[in-house]
Amino acid sequence: MSGALKVPAEEAGARLTIDLGAIKRNYRALAAMTAGAECAAVVKADAYGTGIEATGPALADAGARTFFVAHLSEARRLRAVLPDATIYVLNGLFGEALATYADHALRPVLGSREEIEIFSAFCAATARRWPAAIHIDTGMNRLGLDLAEAALLAEPGPHALAFEPALLMSHFACADEPGHPLTARQIDRFAQMRALFPGVAGSLANSAGCTMAAARHDIVRPGIALYGARFCAGRDPLEPVVRLEAPLVQVRDVRPGDAVGYGATWTAARPSRVGIVSVGYADGYLRAAGSAERNVRAKVRVNGVACPLAGRVSMDLIAIDLTEAGPVRRGDLVTLLGDGIGVDEIAEVAGTIGYEMLTSLGRRYNRRYTGG
Ligand SMILES: *Cc1c(COP(=O)(O)O)cnc(C)c1O
Repeated sequence: MSGALKVPAEEAGARLTIDLGAIKRNYRALAAMTAGAECAAVVKADAYGTGIEATGPALADAGARTFFVAHLSEARRLRAVLPDATIYVLNGLFGEALATYADHALRPVLGSREEIEIFSAFCAATARRWPAAIHIDTGMNRLGLDLAEAALLAEPGPHALAFEPALLMSHFACADEPGHPLTARQIDRFAQMRALFPGVAGSLANSAGCTMAAARHDIVRPGIALYGARFCAGRDPLEPVVRLEAPLVQVRDVRPGDAVGYGATWTAARPSRVGIVSVGYADGYLRAAGSAERNVRAKVRVNGVACPLAGRVSMDLIAIDLTEAGPVRRGDLVTLLGDGIGVDEIAEVAGTIGYEMLTSLGRRYNRRYTGG
């Protein structure tokens, strides 16, 4: 990752392997599922934690030509590795950034009257119709013009656009819950709005939206599905992308009644073996995954055996109950993600979603890319 420290294996507590081959296969699967539309790729938040500099080119290699990021800083990082891609910046436009958009051929997503005015004035001042997307809010109430503002924008005359409307887009609030009534309303509203902007490409679908023909329009915008996490209730995720492994730093035997970790929330009920690995919540391993209150603990795999966490996740360490794992010693590898343990599983134990687990993946892992 640019700007981030590259951590050598012998200095890291754990190794994160990102399978670029799996990302490419996931992209191709989504492109096939949405054939007829262009399949773009959402690579915000450092490509959902996988590293935008490696993942962006892998996706381009698999056929992606259009990319969406949240921040301008992410767009610049992507531009540095993909000189020819079309790059949209989702999260709002302020005047100070205009020159950066122009210098790096980046496209803002305009989601309010103020943003339309700022960008239009910039086009007038530079005597050029720069391309941008128009974001319409169809029911999420986060970013985007409301329907009346968008309709006004479509009228000819004094409101004629000073910029090139390259894309008309909106975003789903609940597409991952099949049958949610808001999704049908958003699909209808978006279709009505599109009719006002003939000739402008349309984009509505996130990963979950890709499953619905009526949501596809010209360009689909999957994010999470590319990275192998759950994207829609009742559907299997695509191929897992991340693998996290760490060597045991210490193995200790504890007696019945002995407690482990902060808060002494785990107590051995029998003579037990406890292993310690150098991964903690500061590395994005969610602290709630070791919570005693919920009485479910995340599992890791040691010697092929699923072993539960023992006690709380610390900032930099995790304790594991190795009692069922057979013979183990210091240095043996523990699999925290992979071998059937997915980000969604840990996230669920921690009461959150795979998106949060992925985008929390830490900066001090030794990161390795395969399948590029
Ligand atoms: C994050 C985001 C996406 C991708 O959503 P996924 O659920 O990860 O597929 C698409 N469009 C917009 C506007 C987004 O913010």
